[in-house]
Amino acid sequence: MLNSSQLQQLQKLVGTQHVLHERDDLWVYGHDGTALMRHLPSAVVAPGSAQEVAAVIQFANQEGLKLVPRGSGTGLSGGSVALEQAVVLSMLRLNRILEIDRANMTASVEPGVITAQLHAAVEAQGLFYPPDPGSMKICTVGGNVAENAGGLRGLKYGVTRDYVMGLEVVLPEGQLMWTGSKCPKDVAGYDLKQLLVGSEGTLGIFTRILVKLLPKPKAKRTLLAVFPTMEAAAATVAAIIAAPIIPATLEFLDQITLRCVEDYAHIGLPTDAGAILLMESDGHPEVARSEAEEMGELARKHGATQVTMAQSDEEGVQLAAARRMAFPALARVRPTTVLEDVSVPRSRLVEMVQAVRRIAESSGLMIGTFGHAGDGNLHPTILLDERDGDEVRRMEGAFEQICQSALELGGTLTGEHGVGLLKRDFLERFSDPAALETMRRFRSVMDPRQVLNPGKMFHNRPRREGQLPVHPGQCEPLLEGLRP
Ligand SMILES: Cc1cc2nc3c(=O)[nH]c(=O)nc-3n(C[C@H](O)[C@H](O)[C@H](O)COP(=O)(O)OP(=O)(O)OC[C@H]3O[C@@H](n4cnc5c(N)ncnc54)[C@H](O)[C@@H]3O)c2cc1C
Repeated sequence: MLNSSQLQQLQKLVGTQHVLHERDDLWVYGHDGTALMRHLPSAVVAPGSAQEVAAVIQFANQEGLKLVPRGSGTGLSGGSVALEQAVVLSMLRLNRILEIDRANMTASVEPGVITAQLHAAVEAQGLFYPPDPGSMKICTVGGNVAENAGGLRGLKYGVTRDYVMGLEVVLPEGQLMWTGSKCPKDVAGYDLKQLLVGSEGTLGIFTRILVKLLPKPKAKRTLLAVFPTMEAAAATVAAIIAAPIIPATLEFLDQITLRCVEDYAHIGLPTDAGAILLMESDGHPEVARSEAEEMGELARKHGATQVTMAQSDEEGVQLAAARRMAFPALARVRPTTVLEDVSVPRSRLVEMVQAVRRIAESSGLMIGTFGHAGDGNLHPTILLDERDGDEVRRMEGAFEQICQSALELGGTLTGEHGVGLLKRDFLERFSDPAALETMRRFRSVMDPRQVLNPGKMFHNRPRREGQLPVHPGQCEPLLEGLRP
């Protein structure tokens, strides 16, 4: 815990009203979007400038305090949960869009800008910032950079990393650093920003972010296809890519998920269907139209029982709502939602969905799966009640089996939500040992005192031989921190 002199010092650095330390004020900072990963911080500090961030970090180094950067706390791997009685460093006061440079097609923003606000600001000028995580109305650009967030447009446009051109960062010992430029071609030295994107708050705190923009696509066509089986939907995905068409969006919902969405939103989805695909094509109006028609034909050819093409942007938004509602619709079914994020090569998508189905059957758990079909990135969502110890144990087993199945299919542990706390044991177990050692070395060179986000991505110290991994349910002791 902080002593009173440390508290006063922090208040002096950022202003008394920007430091929270009463227990009642800390609850909301005790968790992110991840179930079963909770722990109260010892305080929350909200700096108002890069200089204040640097001053807080220098103070933390001097006093042996730990700091956890935090945007909106929508993360799904426990990244902004404060272990080791850390102090949360809230970045939400740094929330200005500093510049939209039309000539160079870039935007410069502070990290606390909400992603959808950046979209709106650049689109008002005919420009386009593609990364669109499902949480875009509440998450921050800083959190997106720290997690290398993806979204529904990832197949055609890539992920956050593909748009970061420069970063102002406060390093773990308190130095302010700028890396990158507005030049599309820039190979001066190591590409530090590529290392920092996706570093989950462990290598530095972003205080300014320079992103690349594109021209706003002139038109967009959205269609929704209903299939009797997941296999038919997957065959359509393969046929679309082979056509070749790279749609802006190619998303799927399995039967359990679409039933939950229908039960939640009553939007007319047929609940006896095996799967649905949401498809979007954008660009020149003629290209968007002809690609959308071709995708519709391919869907019918592969067994779609219903194909609905939106006739306006508003109708397109309504069709896309089914996909955007998947997580909240599943989350209301049971008290606890554990969301997975494995990714497999696109060609192995059906095998992965089938593996999840088998795991659901053998564990007796309800698992709804939705995700980015075009990217092979799935979100099997395990629904349970964390108060039921037996269900928690079965969930842990299922969680591990899902990760293992993805790796056996040539996939990876996480496509976009990051390692954080949720998957650090899996990263340690399944990484190439030399790669893991290199990551650890980077970490200790940049942050020798382990001040920033301790215990995230991997343990501070290597796991001992024979020590069991921590699965999501086993973090339950952290609940202690939340009991009044
Ligand atoms: C309903 C829902 C839908 C979602 N859909 C998607 C999706 O489609 N795609 C996707 O990728 N993710 C998705 N997510 C996950 C989440 O929204 C993203 O990971 C997002 O990038 C987190 O942003 P945040 O501002 O909430 O960050 P937080 O959760 O506050 O923090 C996330 C990580 O970033 C670090 N961090 C935050 N700010 C900074 C900073 N300024 N400097 C350094 N480190 C920092 C934190 O320490 C933490 O490790 C979804 C989440 C929800 C709840």
